[in-house]
Amino acid sequence: MKYSQDIIKLKGIGEKTAKLFNRLGIYTTEDLLRHYPRSYQAFKPPVKIAEGIGEDVATVELFLPAAFKWKKVRNLTIGTGVGSDGTDNVSLTFFNMPYLKNKLTAGSSYLFRGKLKAGQGQYHMDQPKLFTWKEYEERMGRLQPCYSLTAGLTDRTVARAVEQALNSFEEEEYLPEEIREEYALTGIAQAVWQIHFPKDYDSLLAARKRLVFDEFFLFLLAVRKMKEYNEELATDYPMMETAWTGRLLEMLPYKLTGAQKRVWEELKADLVNGRCMNRLVQGDVGSGKTILAFLCLLLTVSNGCQGALMAPTELLASQHFEQLCSMTEKYGLPFKPALLTGSVGAAAKRKIYKQIEEGEVNVIIGTHALIQEKVVYQKLALVITDEQHRFGVRQREILSEKGGKAHVLVMSATPIPRTLAIILYGDMHLSVVDELPANRVPVKNCVVGTSYREKAYEFITKQVRMGKQVYVICPMVGAGEEGEDGLENVVDYGEKLKNRLPADICVEILHGKMRPGDKKRVMEAFGAGYVHVLVSTTVIEVGINVPNATVMMIENAERFGLAQLHQLRGRIGRGKDQSYCIFISGTDKEESMERLKILNRSNDGFYIAREDLKLRGPGDLFGIRQSGAMEFRIADIYQDAELIPKISITVEHLLTQGRLETEKYGPLRRYLNENAGNYIDFRSI
Ligand code: ADP
Ligand code: MG
Repeated sequence: MKYSQDIIKLKGIGEKTAKLFNRLGIYTTEDLLRHYPRSYQAFKPPVKIAEGIGEDVATVELFLPAAFKWKKVRNLTIGTGVGSDGTDNVSLTFFNMPYLKNKLTAGSSYLFRGKLKAGQGQYHMDQPKLFTWKEYEERMGRLQPCYSLTAGLTDRTVARAVEQALNSFEEEEYLPEEIREEYALTGIAQAVWQIHFPKDYDSLLAARKRLVFDEFFLFLLAVRKMKEYNEELATDYPMMETAWTGRLLEMLPYKLTGAQKRVWEELKADLVNGRCMNRLVQGDVGSGKTILAFLCLLLTVSNGCQGALMAPTELLASQHFEQLCSMTEKYGLPFKPALLTGSVGAAAKRKIYKQIEEGEVNVIIGTHALIQEKVVYQKLALVITDEQHRFGVRQREILSEKGGKAHVLVMSATPIPRTLAIILYGDMHLSVVDELPANRVPVKNCVVGTSYREKAYEFITKQVRMGKQVYVICPMVGAGEEGEDGLENVVDYGEKLKNRLPADICVEILHGKMRPGDKKRVMEAFGAGYVHVLVSTTVIEVGINVPNATVMMIENAERFGLAQLHQLRGRIGRGKDQSYCIFISGTDKEESMERLKILNRSNDGFYIAREDLKLRGPGDLFGIRQSGAMEFRIADIYQDAELIPKISITVEHLLTQGRLETEKYGPLRRYLNENAGNYIDFRSI
């Protein structure tokens, strides 16, 4: 079997299952093997009921003295019974598992695995997984992979497919021995095996180390290549300064901060010096990057050219669009903007395409799809990406095919120190907006347990009475999602708040599963102040700007990475009034409270992410993702920060000493050639 082929060729994967895999972005066996587990489960020896309380998951051997009772409630089949471990009893409940009727017989013992809870004077276990001793022993002593899944796909299906793919070929080693020795790396084939099915914790760490190395190494090689490509690239759109930008700056209700001014000068110089701009603007949340993008767009359109602004979400794209439209109107700016997102209808899209082609539209704002689609630009001179995505050579080439060589500007709020940014974005010039607007008041934080909620609701009511607005964040969309119980969800919480808060306070919900049109309407109503309290998932994490919102209350804060909480918190404290962030911890475990308190101590996203990792320790390496802009598959810029400068030097030496051209590096060169597309396409980084 070849290394990369359609997954449908694997046994047991038919069209239907293949479609599910496709939903996760897995089309080939190669994609499958690179779909690394999200975490691992250790199947520990069974325990007594009382010992399992407090564990996230536990296995108990239970004797069933009597048969289960089954009843139907509307479409739901519910099975209830009692199990005994000889000392204690536990009440067991199954939902929609009718086939267990014949499997569970009175007078027998089974292993039940799930979350044990104590309440109302007895022990409970809902929807446990069932094992025979034989099945359980097979899993014991081996770490079981848990994958990111989609409805209809189980860990077991993915693991079986992975195992088959692994068994049918061995990946060829492409790193020369000298590098593997220098960094003490295991072979690639072994690493891929062990990342999916680790023998023990040490082999898991070794596998991870190798794969992390590869990711950074290939990435930094690509960055170097991009640098060469981009350097001194003459633009097809040289521009001249115009009076418009100065005029806009005069009319704005605020003055640019010193940092904004400095960065704006750098951006302007890039645009008028005849070479392609290729710049990253970094600045913490709220530092005011959007206005810099607008200024660049203004210079572009006043030079008779077109500009595009890409955002990672439709929400953010619409927000930028609204903001640009209102500025255009208010200040009489020469923008003719269009919004291009997935939810624009086919007919409207065709019309916009035509307007873009004919130059009737001079600013295109949208999601990333907009550059991949068949848009023909008349004179696309500037492409800005806001948050998250950076540009690969491929994308630049795609754009060049659409017109000439455009200027590229990337804006990011990823908190990484300058020294790392210079390496990771080595192909770009770097500007840092290292100053917040002067009118900002630092956000006040508190970390509390669920018993504080009533007080929080009073506080929220008071703030709304003062004309302010509130975000409430929940980790889940709807009840019972992903089988995670005990976590707050947006749908139920929204209902609860509507009932709990005074009737004239308008509560709305927002989550990723809503239709794009609905999302946009809710966000607009919130932006306009009609909605007072917005109960949302983390969809609002990126870029959303409603300066009048002064309170954020985050439920189950313990479930989020601290860096992500920091990003979320960045949604408030954007105006001149005092803002408040209330982290509600769903557990009163001491560690989880301590962890959240790091957020009180610092406003530095990188520091926060690193402290978080330190606290969680090596046992939790694969736990919560820090969710920042740079999402590698397995490498983590916070956790693996020390490696980056070192690998960067290795890459530099390889290239400057011409070693990459030598015999030993033949397999690597071949690998790079075959995977050129993958390794320089930075779509998600
Ligand atoms: P980010 O850098 O996170 O993208 P934004 O560009 O969304 O931040 O700016 C946050 C808020 O700060 C916006 O409401 C914007 O109008 C405002 N703002 C930007 N620059 C200044 C400034 N120099 N003085 C006061 N407010 C500013
Ligand atoms: Mg922004």
